[in-house]
Amino acid sequence: MKIKNYQLKRSSYESWETIFNNPAPIEVQTYQTGSVLIELDGTFNPNHLKSPRIYGTVEVPILSHFLSHKKLGNFLLDAGLDKSYYLDPYGGVETPQKEEYIQDKNQNIGYQLGDNASKLKAVFLSHMHPDHIAGIRDLPKDIPVIVGKGEIEDYEPDLYGDFLKDVETVCEIDFQDSDTISPFSKCADLLGDGSLWAISTPGHTRGHMSFIVNGLMGPKLLTMDVAFIQENISYGVAPSDYTLNVEEAQRSLDMLIQFIRLFRGIEVTAGHAFP
Ligand SMILES: [Zn+2]
Repeated sequence: MKIKNYQLKRSSYESWETIFNNPAPIEVQTYQTGSVLIELDGTFNPNHLKSPRIYGTVEVPILSHFLSHKKLGNFLLDAGLDKSYYLDPYGGVETPQKEEYIQDKNQNIGYQLGDNASKLKAVFLSHMHPDHIAGIRDLPKDIPVIVGKGEIEDYEPDLYGDFLKDVETVCEIDFQDSDTISPFSKCADLLGDGSLWAISTPGHTRGHMSFIVNGLMGPKLLTMDVAFIQENISYGVAPSDYTLNVEEAQRSLDMLIQFIRLFRGIEVTAGHAFP
């Protein structure tokens, strides 16, 4: 695996108003590639003052977002699950931290993408947890995989499973070289035309990214795992389960909520909820 730096171009845009007034021909289609049971106590940090203190387990979808840009081609945001999970809830992974998921037949990302799987220009990963990256195993190995800096260094394939095995090129986004567009101190114009943005939202993992898709039908914010479910946003309480740094994760959620309040019309999708 070659690890490269993802070349960022400085954006000429200075505000989200201007960006949203210049939408691009890009569309999002969201696929459910499986589902997972999560505990509500931990989906909301129980130590947060505003925690709703609700308990029990909910089944939530594991998602992958297919982007088609009329001029620049097709991309994927997160890969969801590959076909290994239909017959085996652990997806063939035999490591100490293997995770259990649920998958119906033909729900895997490779099946749902069909011919589009070979036409992908790149896969951007919000972070490297198994439910966001296992689907890479369904895809051609020559598609570049792009992650936030810190993800590769922190990733432990012996503990979680080696989902990026045989991938030829992984590119890291170093947000030190990125733009500041209020309220975000670190964001990046991924395709160079203002159509797709990565926002640095660390906490859940070190290099975690959220995304904004600036399409003709209106902008969409994909929080990824800054919010597992929409209620993380409505209560203003970040998850603590599966989270590296809970305080930092809360700051990232607070920043996204500030953005959502500024742009009331924006469509917001949480990491494990349907748009
Ligand atoms: Zn995660």
